[in-house]
Amino acid sequence: MMDFLHSQLATLQSKLSFVATDPIDWKFYVQAFSWGVTLFESYLLIRQYPLYSKKEPPAVLAGHFDAEVFQKSQDYGKDKAQFSLVTGLLKQGLDSAMLQYGFYAWAWDAGGRITSRLGYGPEYEILQSLAFSCVLFFSSSIPTLPLSIYQTFVLEEKHGFNKTTPTLFVTDLLKGWALGFVIGSPFLAAFLYVFKWAGDRFVPWLMAFLLSFQVIMVIIYPTLIQPLFNKLSPLVEGELRTRTEALAAKLKFPLTHLYEIDGSKRSSHSNAYFFGLPWSKHIVIFDTLIKESKPDEVEAVLAHELGHWYHMHPTKLLCISQVHIFTILALFPAFLHAPQFLRAFDFSKLVASRPPTIVAFLLFQMILTPLEAIIGIGMNAISRQFEWEADRFACELQDRLSSSEMKDMGDRLGRALITLHVKNLSTVWVDWLYSAYHHSHPTLTERLKALEGFQAKHASNSIEKKEL
Ligand SMILES: [Zn+2]
Repeated sequence: MMDFLHSQLATLQSKLSFVATDPIDWKFYVQAFSWGVTLFESYLLIRQYPLYSKKEPPAVLAGHFDAEVFQKSQDYGKDKAQFSLVTGLLKQGLDSAMLQYGFYAWAWDAGGRITSRLGYGPEYEILQSLAFSCVLFFSSSIPTLPLSIYQTFVLEEKHGFNKTTPTLFVTDLLKGWALGFVIGSPFLAAFLYVFKWAGDRFVPWLMAFLLSFQVIMVIIYPTLIQPLFNKLSPLVEGELRTRTEALAAKLKFPLTHLYEIDGSKRSSHSNAYFFGLPWSKHIVIFDTLIKESKPDEVEAVLAHELGHWYHMHPTKLLCISQVHIFTILALFPAFLHAPQFLRAFDFSKLVASRPPTIVAFLLFQMILTPLEAIIGIGMNAISRQFEWEADRFACELQDRLSSSEMKDMGDRLGRALITLHVKNLSTVWVDWLYSAYHHSHPTLTERLKALEGFQAKHASNSIEKKEL
């Protein structure tokens, strides 16, 4: 089995052997790809932009938006679109300049200077890789910091969403960096170590490593990481708690903890989610959702979430991500042992003669930009399919649990979605191509139509049953 895998991988690699031998202007390709993706994204924004000037909401939503709220959502959308257009182009301009002027080669040498100050020579590749990552991280995130300050304190503030104080912003940022370092550096070190240790047969080993890392994160994220940023408190006794526990019990959902999260500390955007291992799950509901919707409507949102669980959507997404990771790793070796490849990005002959794994992997990721954009569209399509399934699940609960109390689940879900949408001032008019590229969820209009459809179909089914 393993030998078959490795012989297949070897065949693939021999097809890619041109990477090591042919002089290809890789830098030019990466510039062209990345500008291509950025310009396409700008084009999508330009397609979407005129829709923010519409004066009326779509017919399905007409009764739910008053004129003033609709206008607010249009203004918010317009501001966000302008912001995305400018930031997209600025970030790409910056990345492109870094690429053009040999920044990555400079960062590798800078990493080497840092480690040699600490008394470690270039033979400590993993250590130099860590220093290189720090240099890269700070030199790419600090220049864009003003953009996220603007986004939080000007854009979101203007539309009444920002609840973040400057102190909270700074502490979040520092916590994020510290956390990135505490988790990121051992992860990276282990990742590079597996590469070195497994040699040419790294694909299955690295996949096993990445999968274990994902599982560990599922366990430690809610218990160790999330509490650093938000407060999770057990949901208070009351109608919502009773309803949720009853629903979970009927569906045999292994509910261990039910939390309320203070999402409103930073922003008024709101939602609900679940996480955990197959035998022990936790549900988290945003305080804002609880405040804005009635308990029976929140129950419908949870019914949708449990639909994701019932149809095993998280597991399916995990499997898809394994295929994705496998593809990337299977293609990679051709770029790992290719001095020409590094030379194309201004690395010195000395560095290129024995390519550092992290450098080769980073540059290889850049080559994959257009492929990743296409995969992103496919992933959105799958995710939207899952959303339909979860909505349908909520509508069909009345049959599944033969509970007539749940016959209006679709209406309740619809009302909750509309409230969320109105409170978040989410965009209502969406260009189809923009949506296909960016959205992992169907638009509100599409979802309401489908909910009506599920309900109508159900009603006609029950009439038929009676007639029989
Ligand atoms: Zn969903």
